[in-house]
Amino acid sequence: MTDLNDQWFARAKDVIPGGVNSPVRAYGSVGGTPRFVQSASGPRITDAAGREYVDLVASWGPALLGHAHPEVVGAVQAAASRGLSFGAPTGAEVELADLIAQRVQVGDLKPIEKVRLVSTGTEATMTAIRLARGVTGRDLLIKFAGHYHGHSDGLLAAAGSGVATLALPGSAGVPAPIAAQTLVLPYNDLDAVREAFEVHGQNIAAIIVEAASANMGVVPPLPGFNAALADIAHEHGALLIMDEVLTGFRVHPAGFWGLQASQGETYLPDILTFGKVVGGGMPLAALAGRAEVMDHLAPLGPVYQAGTLSGNPLSVAAGLATLRLATPEVYASVDTAAARVADALGAALTAEGVVHVVPRAGSLFGVAFLPEVPLDYATALTQQSYRYAAFFHSMLDAGVSLPPSVFEAWFLTAAHDETALAQVLDALPAAAKAAAE
Ligand code: PLP
Repeated sequence: MTDLNDQWFARAKDVIPGGVNSPVRAYGSVGGTPRFVQSASGPRITDAAGREYVDLVASWGPALLGHAHPEVVGAVQAAASRGLSFGAPTGAEVELADLIAQRVQVGDLKPIEKVRLVSTGTEATMTAIRLARGVTGRDLLIKFAGHYHGHSDGLLAAAGSGVATLALPGSAGVPAPIAAQTLVLPYNDLDAVREAFEVHGQNIAAIIVEAASANMGVVPPLPGFNAALADIAHEHGALLIMDEVLTGFRVHPAGFWGLQASQGETYLPDILTFGKVVGGGMPLAALAGRAEVMDHLAPLGPVYQAGTLSGNPLSVAAGLATLRLATPEVYASVDTAAARVADALGAALTAEGVVHVVPRAGSLFGVAFLPEVPLDYATALTQQSYRYAAFFHSMLDAGVSLPPSVFEAWFLTAAHDETALAQVLDALPAAAKAAAE
């Protein structure tokens, strides 16, 4: 039987490579037809055939407040009525930059003085790396296996997210000399980091790290790992780029850095990157840091970066409205909802005797079909990932839309009310049974 989703997918495959504009959307690792979304509201999406699902994808993170929050939509509509794009500065950009700098602060610790707005997380990390190279005059970059920082050339080596889902080693089309500028190390392994600096220290511009990894499934940093990265980088005159594209403004008002700082793990990254929540569902991302670093960017400094749509007024309006609405109560309700679903997920799989863990980093969590929480990508890849397809489709049949890959985090929002949560919790036992088979 085909429905409108099948019809759209068939048509899409004729005109869009693989039928999708971002690979993981294709359901490649779980099979079946992607749901073509016609609308979304609060905790729910409605597909092309008119079927509703409780959504735990949340646009892969941005929808912290739920979909189509009336005040966010209203702010975007009001901005649209004043003009879609000017290619000139606006006051609202200044307000958003200020808000970002003020929010990412814990006590006296304040890593951000200046902010540059861009349009995607990929642009933010790409520019952050160029900036680190420009500041240090060095070329090499350390990244961790399984970490995804977007799809720019040097960052696709052993990346997570779609690269993990599709079991790709990296990407075709990346010239070897560019890939050779990235040293890929095992995550949570400080000895490997120290060794890399012993051998290449003079040439390493920066370490880039996901504040907490969430693109090889959720794999939290070991206590002290992020702080030690800052120390090692700084000892050797390199910078630490903390990638908060996924975690920023989602797990805590000041991001994962803020969550750690508020729990006593204090360190100062040199550049932070943001995306997703900061744009409230519109294309907007940012890089930020101390003025002495950020001022190397053009037009003040020699590191070039630009964008026709950078600081787009509709995106800025969505970001400002979202951050202003993201109160401590919002974070508390997302934390509670996430804990309830994570606990119920674990209990359902335990009841069916399925070997699993539910790793967590703040309100981020996912499932891994492993006996212990993995510390790195090599271990995450050894899991019984085939179990996820049956689990995923059982949930989908029960009207719950999960990320279509075991290597992605599940996202709760402040709009997941009792009714929505009950639908998720009720669906878990049958999905766990399906995973057990
Ligand atoms: N960095 C991290 C940690 C991400 O999770 C992502 C996207 O998922 C990116 C960077 C890239 O962001 P974008 O997809 O907006 O280019």
